[in-house]
Amino acid sequence: MIIIVKHGANEERIQDLIHWIESQNLITHVSKGEFTTIVGVIGDTSKLDEDLIMGLDIVDSVKRVSEPFKSANRKFHPLDSIIDVSGVKVGGGNFAMIAGPCSVESHDQIISIAQDVKAAGANMLRGGAFKPRTSPYDFQGLKADGLELLLEAKKITGLPIVTEIMNANHLPLFENVDLIQVGARNMQNFELLKELGHTKKPILLKRGLANTIKELLMAAEYIMSGGNENIILCERGIRTFETATRNTLDLSAIPVLHELTHLPVVIDPSHATGVARYVKPMAVAAAAAGCDGLIIEVHNDPPHALCDGAQSLRPEQYEDVAKSVNKVRAALAE
Ligand code: PEP
Ligand code: MN
Repeated sequence: MIIIVKHGANEERIQDLIHWIESQNLITHVSKGEFTTIVGVIGDTSKLDEDLIMGLDIVDSVKRVSEPFKSANRKFHPLDSIIDVSGVKVGGGNFAMIAGPCSVESHDQIISIAQDVKAAGANMLRGGAFKPRTSPYDFQGLKADGLELLLEAKKITGLPIVTEIMNANHLPLFENVDLIQVGARNMQNFELLKELGHTKKPILLKRGLANTIKELLMAAEYIMSGGNENIILCERGIRTFETATRNTLDLSAIPVLHELTHLPVVIDPSHATGVARYVKPMAVAAAAAGCDGLIIEVHNDPPHALCDGAQSLRPEQYEDVAKSVNKVRAALAE
Protein backbone atom coordinates (compact mmCIF):
# COMPACT_ATOMS: atom_id res chain seq x y z
CA MET A 1 0.00 0.00 0.00
CA ILE A 2 1.18 3.55 -0.63
CA ILE A 3 -0.08 6.58 1.22
CA ILE A 4 0.46 9.89 -0.52
CA VAL A 5 0.77 12.64 2.07
CA LYS A 6 -0.57 16.13 1.35
CA HIS A 7 1.99 18.77 0.43
CA GLY A 8 2.97 20.78 3.51
CA ALA A 9 1.53 18.27 6.00
CA ASN A 10 2.73 18.62 9.58
CA GLU A 11 5.82 16.43 10.15
CA GLU A 12 4.67 15.37 13.64
CA ARG A 13 1.38 14.13 12.25
CA ILE A 14 3.25 12.16 9.55
CA GLN A 15 5.37 10.54 12.27
CA ASP A 16 2.21 9.69 14.25
CA LEU A 17 0.82 7.96 11.18
CA ILE A 18 4.07 6.01 10.65
CA HIS A 19 4.17 4.89 14.30
CA TRP A 20 0.55 3.81 14.18
CA ILE A 21 1.22 1.70 11.04
CA GLU A 22 4.40 0.18 12.50
CA SER A 23 2.58 -0.68 15.74
CA GLN A 24 0.55 -3.12 13.61
CA ASN A 25 3.66 -5.11 12.68
CA LEU A 26 3.98 -3.48 9.29
CA ILE A 27 7.10 -1.97 7.75
CA THR A 28 7.11 1.59 6.39
CA HIS A 29 9.27 3.02 3.67
CA VAL A 30 9.23 6.81 3.45
CA SER A 31 10.16 8.62 0.24
CA LYS A 32 10.37 12.41 0.41
CA GLY A 33 10.29 14.32 -2.86
CA GLU A 34 10.27 18.07 -3.36
CA PHE A 35 6.48 18.23 -3.38
CA THR A 36 5.26 14.86 -2.18
CA THR A 37 5.95 12.50 0.66
CA ILE A 38 5.03 8.88 0.07
CA VAL A 39 4.69 6.35 2.86
CA GLY A 40 5.02 2.85 1.47
CA VAL A 41 3.63 0.09 3.67
CA ILE A 42 5.00 -3.46 3.44
CA GLY A 43 3.47 -6.55 5.02
CA ASP A 44 -0.05 -7.89 5.33
CA THR A 45 -1.87 -4.61 4.71
CA SER A 46 -5.25 -6.31 4.48
CA LYS A 47 -5.82 -5.42 8.13
CA LEU A 48 -5.32 -1.70 7.47
CA ASP A 49 -8.54 0.29 7.17
CA GLU A 50 -8.13 2.25 3.95
CA ASP A 51 -11.11 4.52 4.69
CA LEU A 52 -9.72 5.38 8.11
CA ILE A 53 -6.38 6.43 6.59
CA MET A 54 -8.14 8.32 3.77
CA GLY A 55 -10.08 10.21 6.45
CA LEU A 56 -6.91 11.71 7.96
CA ASP A 57 -6.51 15.33 6.91
CA ILE A 58 -2.78 14.91 6.14
CA VAL A 59 -3.52 12.16 3.59
CA ASP A 60 -4.06 12.96 -0.07
CA SER A 61 -4.68 9.43 -1.37
CA VAL A 62 -4.21 5.74 -0.63
CA LYS A 63 -3.42 3.07 -3.21
CA ARG A 64 -2.97 -0.67 -2.98
CA VAL A 65 0.20 -1.87 -4.76
CA SER A 66 -0.55 -5.10 -6.54
CA GLU A 67 3.03 -5.96 -7.59
CA PRO A 68 4.83 -8.40 -5.27
CA PHE A 69 7.95 -6.20 -5.24
CA LYS A 70 7.51 -3.28 -2.90
CA SER A 71 10.82 -1.65 -1.90
CA ALA A 72 12.06 -1.87 -5.49
CA ASN A 73 8.78 -0.48 -6.83
CA ARG A 74 8.81 2.96 -8.39
CA LYS A 75 5.43 3.60 -6.79
CA PHE A 76 7.19 3.51 -3.42
CA HIS A 77 10.01 5.78 -4.57
CA PRO A 78 9.08 7.85 -7.64
CA LEU A 79 12.52 9.44 -8.07
CA ASP A 80 15.44 7.49 -9.54
CA SER A 81 17.66 5.99 -6.87
CA ILE A 82 21.26 7.13 -7.06
CA ILE A 83 23.68 4.48 -5.81
CA ASP A 84 26.98 5.75 -4.47
CA VAL A 85 29.83 3.34 -5.19
CA SER A 86 32.72 4.78 -3.20
CA GLY A 87 32.13 8.23 -4.66
CA VAL A 88 31.04 7.17 -8.15
CA LYS A 89 27.32 7.82 -8.47
CA VAL A 90 25.10 5.58 -10.60
CA GLY A 91 21.51 6.38 -11.64
CA GLY A 92 19.47 9.56 -11.90
CA GLY A 93 21.60 10.81 -14.80
CA ASN A 94 24.90 9.46 -13.46
CA PHE A 95 26.49 6.89 -15.75
CA ALA A 96 28.62 3.88 -14.77
CA MET A 97 31.42 2.91 -17.13
CA ILE A 98 32.62 -0.39 -15.67
CA ALA A 99 35.39 -2.11 -17.57
CA GLY A 100 38.05 -4.74 -17.06
CA PRO A 101 38.87 -8.36 -17.71
CA CYS A 102 36.54 -11.28 -17.20
CA SER A 103 39.05 -12.66 -14.67
CA VAL A 104 41.99 -11.31 -12.77
CA GLU A 105 44.90 -13.37 -14.11
CA SER A 106 48.10 -11.77 -12.83
CA HIS A 107 49.50 -8.63 -11.24
CA ASP A 108 50.72 -7.16 -14.52
CA GLN A 109 47.54 -8.06 -16.38
CA ILE A 110 45.13 -6.34 -13.98
CA ILE A 111 47.32 -3.27 -13.34
CA SER A 112 47.90 -2.70 -17.04
CA ILE A 113 44.21 -3.12 -17.95
CA ALA A 114 43.11 -0.94 -15.01
CA GLN A 115 45.36 1.91 -16.18
CA ASP A 116 44.24 1.51 -19.79
CA VAL A 117 40.49 1.48 -19.08
CA LYS A 118 40.83 4.44 -16.75
CA ALA A 119 42.60 6.40 -19.49
CA ALA A 120 39.84 5.36 -21.91
CA GLY A 121 37.09 6.75 -19.67
CA ALA A 122 36.07 3.95 -17.29
CA ASN A 123 35.01 5.00 -13.80
CA MET A 124 35.05 1.50 -12.22
CA LEU A 125 37.22 -1.59 -12.67
CA ARG A 126 35.75 -5.06 -13.04
CA GLY A 127 37.58 -8.37 -12.67
CA GLY A 128 36.47 -11.81 -11.52
CA ALA A 129 38.36 -13.45 -8.67
CA PHE A 130 35.83 -16.20 -7.96
CA LYS A 131 34.62 -17.43 -11.35
CA PRO A 132 31.40 -19.36 -12.01
CA ARG A 133 32.53 -21.67 -14.85
CA THR A 134 30.38 -24.18 -16.66
CA SER A 135 33.21 -26.72 -16.53
CA PRO A 136 34.96 -27.59 -13.26
CA TYR A 137 38.15 -28.11 -15.33
CA ASP A 138 38.23 -24.47 -16.51
CA PHE A 139 40.12 -21.66 -14.73
CA GLN A 140 38.23 -20.95 -11.53
CA GLY A 141 39.83 -17.59 -10.73
CA LEU A 142 42.66 -16.54 -8.42
CA LYS A 143 40.17 -16.28 -5.53
CA ALA A 144 41.52 -14.38 -2.48
CA ASP A 145 44.76 -13.58 -4.32
CA GLY A 146 42.69 -12.11 -7.15
CA LEU A 147 40.90 -9.83 -4.70
CA GLU A 148 44.27 -8.63 -3.38
CA LEU A 149 45.38 -7.79 -6.92
CA LEU A 150 42.15 -5.87 -7.53
CA LEU A 151 42.78 -3.86 -4.37
CA GLU A 152 46.25 -3.06 -5.62
CA ALA A 153 44.83 -1.90 -8.96
CA LYS A 154 42.38 0.26 -7.02
CA LYS A 155 45.21 1.78 -5.00
CA ILE A 156 47.13 2.65 -8.17
CA THR A 157 44.24 3.95 -10.29
CA GLY A 158 41.68 5.09 -7.71
CA LEU A 159 39.00 3.14 -9.57
CA PRO A 160 36.36 1.46 -7.37
CA ILE A 161 36.38 -2.30 -7.94
CA VAL A 162 33.56 -4.61 -8.99
CA THR A 163 33.85 -8.36 -8.47
CA GLU A 164 31.59 -11.38 -8.09
CA ILE A 165 30.71 -13.20 -4.90
CA MET A 166 29.54 -16.81 -5.13
CA ASN A 167 29.41 -17.84 -1.49
CA ALA A 168 28.17 -15.82 1.48
CA ASN A 169 30.98 -17.35 3.57
CA HIS A 170 33.40 -15.29 1.49
CA LEU A 171 31.85 -11.98 2.60
CA PRO A 172 34.71 -11.08 5.00
CA LEU A 173 37.08 -11.19 2.00
CA PHE A 174 34.88 -8.62 0.22
CA GLU A 175 35.17 -5.96 2.92
CA ASN A 176 37.10 -3.57 0.65
CA VAL A 177 35.25 -4.41 -2.56
CA ASP A 178 33.27 -1.35 -3.65
CA LEU A 179 30.53 -3.04 -5.69
CA ILE A 180 29.75 -6.71 -5.10
CA GLN A 181 28.45 -8.54 -8.15
CA VAL A 182 25.85 -11.29 -7.92
CA GLY A 183 26.26 -13.19 -11.16
CA ALA A 184 23.50 -14.46 -13.41
CA ARG A 185 23.82 -17.98 -12.05
CA ASN A 186 23.26 -16.81 -8.50
CA MET A 187 20.39 -14.38 -9.08
CA GLN A 188 18.07 -16.74 -7.24
CA ASN A 189 20.52 -17.96 -4.61
CA PHE A 190 18.17 -16.69 -1.93
CA GLU A 191 20.48 -17.44 1.02
CA LEU A 192 23.22 -15.37 -0.63
CA LEU A 193 20.76 -12.56 -1.38
CA LYS A 194 19.55 -12.53 2.23
CA GLU A 195 23.13 -12.30 3.55
CA LEU A 196 23.86 -9.40 1.20
CA GLY A 197 20.71 -7.75 2.50
CA HIS A 198 22.34 -7.56 5.91
CA THR A 199 25.27 -5.56 4.56
CA LYS A 200 25.34 -1.96 3.35
CA LYS A 201 27.48 -2.81 0.33
CA PRO A 202 26.38 -1.69 -3.13
CA ILE A 203 25.31 -4.77 -5.11
CA LEU A 204 25.38 -5.30 -8.88
CA LEU A 205 22.58 -7.81 -9.38
CA LYS A 206 22.69 -9.55 -12.75
CA ARG A 207 19.60 -11.00 -14.36
CA GLY A 208 19.58 -14.79 -14.55
CA LEU A 209 19.96 -16.54 -17.89
CA ALA A 210 16.36 -17.68 -17.85
CA ASN A 211 14.70 -15.25 -15.49
CA THR A 212 11.93 -12.76 -16.09
CA ILE A 213 12.14 -9.09 -15.24
CA LYS A 214 9.73 -9.68 -12.40
CA GLU A 215 11.97 -12.41 -10.99
CA LEU A 216 14.93 -10.01 -11.19
CA LEU A 217 12.94 -7.46 -9.19
CA MET A 218 11.95 -10.10 -6.64
CA ALA A 219 15.66 -10.99 -6.26
CA ALA A 220 16.36 -7.29 -5.61
CA GLU A 221 13.50 -7.31 -3.12
CA TYR A 222 15.23 -10.13 -1.17
CA ILE A 223 18.26 -7.87 -0.67
CA MET A 224 16.22 -4.75 0.01
CA SER A 225 13.90 -6.42 2.52
CA GLY A 226 17.00 -7.14 4.63
CA GLY A 227 17.77 -3.42 4.74
CA ASN A 228 20.24 -2.96 1.89
CA GLU A 229 18.77 -0.68 -0.76
CA ASN A 230 22.05 -0.10 -2.64
CA ILE A 231 21.27 -2.13 -5.71
CA ILE A 232 22.18 -1.69 -9.36
CA LEU A 233 20.39 -4.05 -11.75
CA CYS A 234 22.17 -5.55 -14.75
CA GLU A 235 20.70 -6.97 -17.94
CA ARG A 236 23.28 -9.34 -19.49
CA GLY A 237 21.29 -11.23 -22.07
CA ILE A 238 18.91 -14.13 -21.71
CA ARG A 239 18.75 -17.61 -23.21
CA THR A 240 16.66 -17.87 -26.33
CA PHE A 241 16.60 -20.24 -29.32
CA GLU A 242 19.11 -17.94 -31.09
CA THR A 243 22.65 -19.30 -31.38
CA ALA A 244 24.35 -16.51 -33.37
CA THR A 245 25.07 -14.70 -30.13
CA ARG A 246 25.97 -16.13 -26.71
CA ASN A 247 22.70 -14.78 -25.28
CA THR A 248 20.00 -12.43 -26.56
CA LEU A 249 20.29 -8.90 -25.18
CA ASP A 250 16.89 -7.80 -23.93
CA LEU A 251 17.21 -4.07 -24.57
CA SER A 252 13.55 -3.53 -23.79
CA ALA A 253 14.42 -4.43 -20.20
CA ILE A 254 15.76 -0.86 -19.91
CA PRO A 255 12.48 1.04 -20.41
CA VAL A 256 10.48 -1.71 -18.69
CA LEU A 257 12.71 -1.62 -15.60
CA HIS A 258 12.80 2.17 -15.56
CA GLU A 259 9.01 2.12 -15.46
CA LEU A 260 8.73 -0.54 -12.76
CA THR A 261 11.60 0.37 -10.46
CA HIS A 262 13.67 3.31 -9.23
CA LEU A 263 16.87 1.23 -9.24
CA PRO A 264 19.55 1.98 -11.87
CA VAL A 265 19.93 -0.37 -14.84
CA VAL A 266 23.32 -1.27 -16.27
CA ILE A 267 23.83 -3.25 -19.49
CA ASP A 268 26.47 -5.93 -20.11
CA PRO A 269 26.88 -6.19 -23.89
CA SER A 270 29.89 -8.53 -23.50
CA HIS A 271 28.12 -11.52 -21.95
CA ALA A 272 24.98 -10.67 -23.92
CA THR A 273 26.64 -11.12 -27.31
CA GLY A 274 29.77 -13.16 -26.60
CA VAL A 275 31.42 -11.58 -29.65
CA ALA A 276 33.79 -8.60 -29.35
CA ARG A 277 32.66 -6.94 -32.62
CA TYR A 278 29.02 -6.90 -31.48
CA VAL A 279 29.82 -5.14 -28.22
CA LYS A 280 30.02 -1.60 -29.62
CA PRO A 281 26.69 -1.59 -31.48
CA MET A 282 24.90 -3.02 -28.45
CA ALA A 283 26.62 -0.62 -26.04
CA VAL A 284 25.61 2.35 -28.19
CA ALA A 285 22.05 1.01 -28.51
CA ALA A 286 21.81 0.51 -24.74
CA ALA A 287 23.00 4.08 -24.12
CA ALA A 288 20.41 5.31 -26.63
CA ALA A 289 17.72 3.33 -24.78
CA GLY A 290 18.61 5.20 -21.59
CA CYS A 291 20.59 2.70 -19.52
CA ASP A 292 22.44 3.97 -16.43
CA GLY A 293 25.75 2.36 -17.26
CA LEU A 294 27.68 -0.32 -19.09
CA ILE A 295 29.84 -3.16 -17.87
CA ILE A 296 32.24 -4.25 -20.59
CA GLU A 297 35.00 -6.86 -20.69
CA VAL A 298 38.40 -5.50 -21.73
CA HIS A 299 41.64 -7.50 -21.99
CA ASN A 300 45.15 -6.48 -23.03
CA ASP A 301 45.63 -9.80 -24.87
CA PRO A 302 42.21 -11.25 -25.75
CA PRO A 303 43.46 -14.32 -27.68
CA HIS A 304 45.30 -15.48 -24.56
CA ALA A 305 42.65 -14.54 -21.99
CA LEU A 306 41.94 -17.32 -19.49
CA CYS A 307 38.22 -16.61 -19.76
CA ASP A 308 35.91 -14.94 -22.30
CA GLY A 309 38.63 -13.75 -24.71
CA ALA A 310 36.25 -13.89 -27.69
CA GLN A 311 34.03 -11.17 -26.23
CA SER A 312 36.80 -9.03 -24.76
CA LEU A 313 37.75 -5.70 -26.30
CA ARG A 314 41.29 -4.43 -26.51
CA PRO A 315 41.79 -1.16 -24.56
CA GLU A 316 41.83 0.93 -27.77
CA GLN A 317 38.54 -0.66 -28.86
CA TYR A 318 37.07 0.17 -25.47
CA GLU A 319 38.18 3.77 -25.86
CA ASP A 320 36.33 3.91 -29.19
CA VAL A 321 33.16 2.47 -27.57
CA ALA A 322 33.40 4.95 -24.67
CA LYS A 323 33.64 7.87 -27.12
CA SER A 324 30.58 6.75 -29.08
CA VAL A 325 28.60 6.13 -25.91
CA ASN A 326 29.47 9.63 -24.68
CA LYS A 327 28.29 11.10 -27.99
CA VAL A 328 24.96 9.27 -27.72
CA ARG A 329 24.51 10.45 -24.14
CA ALA A 330 25.34 14.03 -25.08
CA ALA A 331 22.85 13.89 -27.96
CA LEU A 332 20.14 12.57 -25.64
CA ALA A 333 20.82 15.36 -23.16
CA GLU A 334 20.32 18.11 -25.79
C1 PEP B 1 30.87 -12.00 -15.26
O1 PEP B 1 30.46 -10.84 -15.23
O2 PEP B 1 32.06 -12.31 -15.23
C2 PEP B 1 29.90 -13.10 -15.37
C3 PEP B 1 30.21 -14.35 -15.08
O3 PEP B 1 28.70 -12.66 -15.79
P1 PEP B 1 27.27 -13.41 -15.78
O4 PEP B 1 27.01 -13.78 -14.36
O5 PEP B 1 26.36 -12.36 -16.32
O6 PEP B 1 27.39 -14.59 -16.69
MN1 MN C 1 33.11 -13.07 -18.48
